[in-house]
Amino acid sequence: MKTIENLQNLIVVMQETQHITSAISLLSWDQECYMPKGGGRARATQLSYLKGLEHESRTGRKMQTSLSECVDLETGTLLTPASEWDERAQALLRETWRDYYHATRLPSDFVRTLGLETSLAHQVWIDARKQNNFSLFAPNLKRIVALKKQEADYLGYTDSPYDALMDEYEPGMTVAHITPLFEALKSKLLPLVAKIGQSGVSADDELFRKFYDPQRQWDFGLKVLSVMHFDLENGRQDHSVHPFTASFHPTDVRLTTRVDPHDFLSSLFSSIHEGGHGLYEQGLSQEYYGTPLGTAISLGIHESQSRLWENSVGRSRAFWTYFFPKLCAVFPENLKGIDFETCYRAINGVRPSLIRVESDEVTYNLHIMLRFEIERMIIEDDLPVEDLPDIWNEKMEAYLGIRPETNADGVLQDVHWSGGAFGYFPTYTLGNLYAAQFFNQAEKEVTGLSEKISAGDLLPLKTWLNEKIHRWGRQYSSQDLLARVCGEALNPSYFTNYLETKFGELYQV
Ligand code: ZN
Repeated sequence: MKTIENLQNLIVVMQETQHITSAISLLSWDQECYMPKGGGRARATQLSYLKGLEHESRTGRKMQTSLSECVDLETGTLLTPASEWDERAQALLRETWRDYYHATRLPSDFVRTLGLETSLAHQVWIDARKQNNFSLFAPNLKRIVALKKQEADYLGYTDSPYDALMDEYEPGMTVAHITPLFEALKSKLLPLVAKIGQSGVSADDELFRKFYDPQRQWDFGLKVLSVMHFDLENGRQDHSVHPFTASFHPTDVRLTTRVDPHDFLSSLFSSIHEGGHGLYEQGLSQEYYGTPLGTAISLGIHESQSRLWENSVGRSRAFWTYFFPKLCAVFPENLKGIDFETCYRAINGVRPSLIRVESDEVTYNLHIMLRFEIERMIIEDDLPVEDLPDIWNEKMEAYLGIRPETNADGVLQDVHWSGGAFGYFPTYTLGNLYAAQFFNQAEKEVTGLSEKISAGDLLPLKTWLNEKIHRWGRQYSSQDLLARVCGEALNPSYFTNYLETKFGELYQV
C-alpha cells in the first residue's frame, strides 16, 4: 500500500512542476503569436524567472524526497522489488529518475553560462546570416562548441561524446547505431536523385506560387485539419513567423502556421505537418499528464507523426483524390483547366536545392546527412569552426550537385547551432524513417487504408496511431516501441522502397 501512496505523491509533485512548464509554454506561444513588440523585455524576465522555478521544482527538495521514497537517487534502482510495481509504474519510475538524473548532472553555473552564450549567439547568428558574414558568428560558435563538449563530459558517454548530446533528443540513439542506417540510406538516395535529375520529367513549380487568397488558404488548412480529426475543441491554429506546435495539456494543443499568399504549398503542408504533431499531443494520456507516461518519447518519434501526415498521407494520390476537387472549388480561378496529374506532380516536385526547410521528400535527408557528418567532425574530431563553410559547400556539391554562392544560403542557414542544439538534426531523418515504417504497418493493419484516405475517412488511421503510439507516452523507448508496433527493428528500406516506388512512377525512372 505504501508503495502506491509514494507513487501517487510523486505524480502530484510532477504535475505541479508541469503546471509551471505549461505556463512557460503558454507565455512562449503568446510571444510568437500575439505579444505586442514592446512586451519583449518584460516577457523575457517573466520567462527567465519561471524557468528558474521550473528547474527548482524538477530537482529541488520536494522532488528529491518523493522520488527517493521509490528509487535510489544515485543509481535509479527501485527500492521495493520490481514485482510490486506493474509495468506502467516501473516505466514511470525509470523515466522519472532518468529526467531527474539528467537535470542534476549539469552544474547550475554551467547551465547559466550556456544559456547566456546561446542567447547572445542567437542575435549574432541573425546578423551574420543577414550580412552573409560567417566570421562574425565563428567566435560565438567556437565557444558554444567548447561548452557542448563539456556538456557531453558532464552527461557521460561510452563511445562518442556525440552520443551524450544526441541522447537529449533521441534517448538511447548512438552514432554506432545510426551510422550504418544513414550510410544505407545515402547509398539509395544519391542514385535516385541523379536518375530523377536526368529523367527529363519536370513538375510545374509555378502552379502554387501564384497568388492564392490568404483567407481561403487558411480556411482550407483548417478543413484539412478537421478531416485529420485534429480536435478543434481541444486545440486551435494561429499565425506565427515559424510554424510550431505547443501543448499545455492534451485538451489544449496549439498549432501555428504561416500563410504566404504566393506559396500555398508551404502554408498547407506546414498546417498538415503541425497537425501531425498536434494529434500526438492530443493523443497522450490525460491521466498521466505531467509525468513521463503522458509525454512524447523523443523528437524522432514526434517528427514521425508530423511526417507521416505530411508526406505518407498529405502528398499521396489517395489524399488528393479526395481533396483535389475541393481545392478546385475553393480556388477556381487558380486551378482552371488544371488536371489532377499536373496538381499531383506540382505537389511532389523533386529538385536539389540549397535550403533544407524548402527541400522535397527525396533530397531532404541528404541535407541531414551533411549536417550529421559535419557535427561529428566538430564534436568528435575537433574540426576547427573556421573550416565549416568550405566543408559544407564541398558536401553540398558531392550530395546535391549544387554549391551555395553565399554562406547565408549555406552553413549559416539553420538556427540550431546558435542554440547549442548539436545532435538534433538526425532526429529529422529518424522521423522520416520511423514514419515510413509505421505507415507500412498501418497499411497492413487498417483494412483498405488507401481507399479510406481516398474517401476522406482519416479516422481509422488516426485511431490506429492513438492506439499504437500516442497513448503509451514514454512507457517504451523509441526503438522498443518501433519493434512492438512493427515487429522489427528500425529498417531504412521501408523509406527507400517508398521513395523508389512513388518517385519511380512519377519520374519514370
Ligand atoms: Zn516537425
